[in-house]
Amino acid sequence: SDTEVCLAVQNAFARDWLCSNYLKLIEQAAKGALGGERNVVIEVDAELACGRVRPESSDQSFGDGSQAGATQTNGSTRGTASAGASIGAAPSSRPGSAAPGAPGGQNSQGANLPALVYSDSVLAPRSLLGPSDFSLNNLYRFENFVVGPCNRFAHAAAVGVSESPGRVYNPFFLHGGVGLGKTHLLQSLCAALLDRDPTTRILYLSCETFVNHFISALENGDLSAFRNKYRNVDVLVVDDIHMLANKERTQEEFFNTFNTLFNAGKQIVLSSDSSPKEIPALQERLVSRFKWGLVTEIEKPCYETRMAILRRKGRARGRELPDDVACLIAENIDTNIRELEGAVTRVLGYATLNHLEVTVDLVRKVLVDVFATRKGVPSMDDVLKIVTSHFNVRVADLQSKRRTNAIAHPRQVGMYLARRITRHSLEEIGRFFGGRDHSTVLYAIEKVEETMRSDERFRAMVVTFLDRLGRNPA
Ligand code: ADP
Ligand code: MG
Repeated sequence: SDTEVCLAVQNAFARDWLCSNYLKLIEQAAKGALGGERNVVIEVDAELACGRVRPESSDQSFGDGSQAGATQTNGSTRGTASAGASIGAAPSSRPGSAAPGAPGGQNSQGANLPALVYSDSVLAPRSLLGPSDFSLNNLYRFENFVVGPCNRFAHAAAVGVSESPGRVYNPFFLHGGVGLGKTHLLQSLCAALLDRDPTTRILYLSCETFVNHFISALENGDLSAFRNKYRNVDVLVVDDIHMLANKERTQEEFFNTFNTLFNAGKQIVLSSDSSPKEIPALQERLVSRFKWGLVTEIEKPCYETRMAILRRKGRARGRELPDDVACLIAENIDTNIRELEGAVTRVLGYATLNHLEVTVDLVRKVLVDVFATRKGVPSMDDVLKIVTSHFNVRVADLQSKRRTNAIAHPRQVGMYLARRITRHSLEEIGRFFGGRDHSTVLYAIEKVEETMRSDERFRAMVVTFLDRLGRNPA
């Protein structure tokens, strides 16, 4: 509007972070772009932040709700540059409910809604999307999914659900480690459902989005709109349902959503990084419901499957990987298909840019960091490599006396990982991290474990590290 620039972000963390670190910069940029001073207001609005189109009629209630929330909840939902200046004022010139630049364009058909009501654009790079499908990743289709012993059953079950939703396996609960193809299968299932019947109303979303929507509905006193949205679908697909861990009220709401849909014979599809009973602090009644239908696990791919995936990914990028090259990669990357894919992309990208042949030597050179962490028993060095590169700190920082959070936090994670995956004693680990004593190491481990219990994202990050270091988290 003339007086304010309103930005939508995914969650409260993003809002707080932007407010405390980048507000001045954003203000300057806004001034530069628009001329004249404006208040910068940052709002939590998960849907808008994903650049999603809200279908006009059916979603209106929720859309209105979240906008209303922005004006009612003040401090808790919005962050502004100058306190109080614009809080409470309705964001007057927000462009209806459509996000600017949303792919696929606004749905202008009113009641004739796109069957796929909603999905995470994070999972759906826009460049991959066709004009009428603004939400699913086009590449995540059954036909692009390489089937092997590790995922054969999960694949068959997903196909089965897509053929007769609500009838064969309900709920369908798919679990497995990071990067093993859960999202790929879930989206394939949605795509296949839509192929069979384009009018199927599918709500596809990440659990995080469900949580965010629920929280803003609570804040806005807008629960009925929320329930309307989630309970009027034919198929509800929630990716990464383990994010419900430790979120009691959301679990309760999900429980009710689940019951309503289930009783109406609607299909429910869930994915998770662990089996129902391993999700931390998940209510027993949810655990038992999740097990009502079919619970199936995707396992780590065996060597042959990895080879098949590598070949497929190479071909998809327009180049055949020579056998020895595929073998080398398959031998070294054995836990995560996303990493396999990343390796192919890097190798082929490097070769193409530099007009080189794809050879074993080239692969060793390009993937040196990936391979280094995988040889033999993980060492302190492997831990350091992961920690320094992820947090962008130096080994010297980790070993220094500095105790700012930017250093202490990675240091604690490093101590935890070292304890979990190397054979070093607490004393040795302490010495390694700048001559600290064993109680400091113990404290670090406790702190990390505690944060893992309360912060799902953090937990996922640590689990990924452990995975990369080749150890299964207990
Ligand atoms: P998850 O959701 O389990 O973390 P994703 O579904 O995001 O994993 O998979 C990570 C990447 O690996 C995706 O790009 C996906 O297409 C690819 N992928 C996973 N499993 C397979 C498979 N069996 N065949 C082909 N590609 C796969
Ligand atoms: Mg996923």
